[in-house]
Amino acid sequence: MKFAVTSKGDQKSNILSHKIRTYLQDFELEYDEDQPDIVVSVGGDGTLLYAFHRYRSRLDKTAFVGIHTGHLGFYADWVPEEIEKLVIAIAKTPYQTIEYPLLEVMIRYHHGGKEAWMLALNEATVKSVEGTMVMDVDIRGEHFERFRGDGLCVSTPSGSTAYNKALGGAILHPSIPAIQLAEMASINNKVFRTIGSPLILPSHHTCTLKPVSGPDFLVTVDHLTQLHKDVKAIQFRVATERVRFARFRPFPFWKRVHDSFISDERG
Ligand code: NAP
Repeated sequence: MKFAVTSKGDQKSNILSHKIRTYLQDFELEYDEDQPDIVVSVGGDGTLLYAFHRYRSRLDKTAFVGIHTGHLGFYADWVPEEIEKLVIAIAKTPYQTIEYPLLEVMIRYHHGGKEAWMLALNEATVKSVEGTMVMDVDIRGEHFERFRGDGLCVSTPSGSTAYNKALGGAILHPSIPAIQLAEMASINNKVFRTIGSPLILPSHHTCTLKPVSGPDFLVTVDHLTQLHKDVKAIQFRVATERVRFARFRPFPFWKRVHDSFISDERG
């Protein structure tokens, strides 16, 4: 089996990454940074986002596992004290994988240029470069509302605990193949109206944003931000691709939510 290790880049994560690499090589696993079967990410959820995008072209062949060197993460749920146990599990046991849904983002342009296609593990957000963003929101090809406000966030179930949660979105279990649309500071008064609640769309529905004013937008996909000019439409849906995490012990999603946001102590 071939493996790679990605590090957050701080001293603690670098030392741990080096240890893991040496231990796995001691078990005669091959280090292959380009075509790994398993990627061990050391740092936090942010580090796993980088690893996901680094290996995005081989999601069907690569599984991820995350160790956190800071606070407990949703993707990075192993602690540094467990690395010997984890290394033995990777080297000795045929591991199970668990699959999570991803978000597909497709951007079309007025000038007819090649459309942009992206995958998000957490979410994509759309904001105006300048002033209020005004977008027509279509759901399943039908006009739903005209949104005015700071922006919109479309998240995956596993990303629902990240930016989406800060916007008042619901936390979705990652076994549900869905995407969630959450508003960023919508304008609501006697003249302008949006639904105001986060919307959860099933895998056979699409959400399309059509610019009403100004064709230039800042689009984030996880940690990546890009300016897109001359935008005609941005379409979101549950991707056909999925991300795979290597599972060596049970750590149920709701327990991770509890331990991350409520308390990691009993009681
Ligand atoms: P960052 O600003 O350095 O970190 C954002 C925080 O989000 C970190 O604490 C990170 O955890 C945490 N995080 C990432 N994925 C998560 C998940 N699925 N569930 C719960 N927490 C999660 O940015 P970054 O490390 O490059 O990560 C980019 C992400 O930041 C975006 O995908 C977005 O979700 C999030 N973000 C959140 C807000 C907000 O909450 N207001 C605003 C902008 C962006 P670690 O410390 O373990 O890495």
